[in-house]
Amino acid sequence: MKLSKSPRINSLLYEMGFYSWLDIINYVPYRYDDLSLTQNFNFVDKQKVVLYGVIASEIDQVKPHKITITKFDLLVDKKVFHVVGFNRTYFNKAFKVGDFITLIGSYNKEHNYINLINVKKGSQEDKSPYLSNYHLVNGLSVTIFSNLVKRAFKELEGKIYDDIPYYLLNKHHLLHKQEALTKVHFPQTKDDIKEGLKYLKYEEALKFSLKTLLIKNENAKLTKYKKEPIDIDICQDFLNALPFKLSKDQYYVGKEIINDMNQNTLMYRLLQGDVGSGKTVVAFLALYANKLRGDQGVLMAPTDALARQHFKNALEIFSKLNIKVELLVGSINKTKRKEILDNLKDGIIDILIGTHAVFSKDVIYSKLGLAIIDEQHRFGVNQRQLLASKGNDTDLLMMSATPIPRSLALSIYGDLDISSIKSLPFSNKKIVTKIVKSTDEKIFSGIDYMIKNNRQIYVIVPTIEYDNENDFSIENIGSKYLLKYPGRVAILHGKLKEEEKEESLKKFYNHEVDILVSTLVVEVGIDVKSASFMIIYNANEFGLASLHQLRGRIGRDGYPSYCFLTYDGDDKSEQDKLNVLVKSFDGFYIAEEDLKMRGPGQLSGLRQSGLSDFKFLNLYNDIKIFQIARDDAKDILKRKEYDKNVYYLINKCQKEINDKKIIS
Ligand code: ADP
Ligand code: MG
Repeated sequence: MKLSKSPRINSLLYEMGFYSWLDIINYVPYRYDDLSLTQNFNFVDKQKVVLYGVIASEIDQVKPHKITITKFDLLVDKKVFHVVGFNRTYFNKAFKVGDFITLIGSYNKEHNYINLINVKKGSQEDKSPYLSNYHLVNGLSVTIFSNLVKRAFKELEGKIYDDIPYYLLNKHHLLHKQEALTKVHFPQTKDDIKEGLKYLKYEEALKFSLKTLLIKNENAKLTKYKKEPIDIDICQDFLNALPFKLSKDQYYVGKEIINDMNQNTLMYRLLQGDVGSGKTVVAFLALYANKLRGDQGVLMAPTDALARQHFKNALEIFSKLNIKVELLVGSINKTKRKEILDNLKDGIIDILIGTHAVFSKDVIYSKLGLAIIDEQHRFGVNQRQLLASKGNDTDLLMMSATPIPRSLALSIYGDLDISSIKSLPFSNKKIVTKIVKSTDEKIFSGIDYMIKNNRQIYVIVPTIEYDNENDFSIENIGSKYLLKYPGRVAILHGKLKEEEKEESLKKFYNHEVDILVSTLVVEVGIDVKSASFMIIYNANEFGLASLHQLRGRIGRDGYPSYCFLTYDGDDKSEQDKLNVLVKSFDGFYIAEEDLKMRGPGQLSGLRQSGLSDFKFLNLYNDIKIFQIARDDAKDILKRKEYDKNVYYLINKCQKEINDKKIIS
């Protein structure tokens, strides 16, 4: 369907995955700008201000570096404010002197100007004070999109139905869907946003719960063909081949998993364990046991680098045991790939390790008995479901380093059994965490010390692109490090090409360079044992859970290690947040603190946590909704008879399961 007359806009909409008016209407704002005008002009530093006034000077636009700087004066009630905007290339085309505008900005006290955040033509007076903001691809503006949303409401008038059964709408005092969506897109008050989102969140949670329960019921009915019985006691050769002894927890969950594999129903289990708790070796143990019963196994990792790392570790152990392990990633050449696929089909390969390439259509296993997914939250529930269907008698184990409270885990992973590793293998594991200023000399003296001792260093920054001389971007900090430590630095961030990323990681992994300057992309799974210093610039910009994950990258061989969190501001709440990390190394405790600090009631319902693929629900803030919806879903499935709209809902969920859409 053509949503716009302009082919250019249509192709942008397709790029975003919008093919119908429903797609458009279901895409909700990620943020609302409150356009109530600021009354008091005695601004404090970094204050967010909203002003209505007239552009009172020519618009001055220059491009000294890679960025465009826009400057003009805004006259508000006889008072003049200097406005500066970064990278607003369009500005002097869209506005001219004499235009009346409503402007949102943040006040910079030191240089006495207002940093432009958003701007609208005219006054907002008789319109809603809330301006909806959507995440859109380049070239698609919020104004264009808002108009499409308006159009979508017209096109769909009377055709937006409730999936939630009426008795539940009544029970929870919910609006109808049409109203809920209207309020979320075009709110008049804060309560509108809340009420609208309440519907969308509950609907999402209810359908998700129903689907996971339906899957669980179905799984319980599936039986696998009779396999050789296995037991951890017959895995002695494997345990002897390890360079260390399993910790108590590792041994216990290993037993739990093997026991589960022995049942005549399929395993569908989550292995939870804090970063560094040693899940990989438990996965290897399960793969070994699986080989003993005569089956093939596969381990999938979210990134190329992580897959290679697992492969290397696996080779060290399994080559001693005469077990054939192979690596399959996207970058492997054609001939090699064909050889692997042939050997896999013929059962010559016992264990395959790789990225999602291991589940490509043309990859055929001779006898897949166990599939393991590392860092499963990176894949999303929908993909998980797809993987489970690769073999008919395949046990599934998922691993996650994201500590979430148990009550919540039950709601989110309702379809899974859960094993947990609670303690780290090193009890003496010590990482000294400190909050320092970004200019602190200890940073560079620490780096020099570490380099002298043949240790490696992570430097983590929050953003990629250069914004100003003092920012903490890859382009800025990275260049400074490259200059200061020539030949010793590799750079890593999400916008690099796959080969470039790999190259950087390889250099760091093989200790060809001492320092890796990276964004959050390094958060997942990388295990470089000689890394014992991490500097996280502007650490307050990261969530606690991410910081904890990041810090887990160092101190992996017991060498005394340091994590410096830089913070230059003096906001007490930011300091308190960072102090949680100074005091604790317990992922579950940190997750709970994180939850407490963020508190409920944030405006936007989108995935700030990065933990999941939910459109509206937030794992941290919406625990209550998850729990309520789960209870309702259980109730529904207990009934002997359904009325029409419950029947409709279940059918719809079943259909989405068949389409592998667990989160819709
Ligand atoms: P994660 O659970 O974060 O995936 P890994 O499996 O990468 O953790 O293990 C973290 C580090 O701890 C690895 O270097 C691994 O070799 C080491 N390790 C795992 N188990 C033990 C153990 N029982 N004793 C000593 N070191 C261990
Ligand atoms: Mg891991």
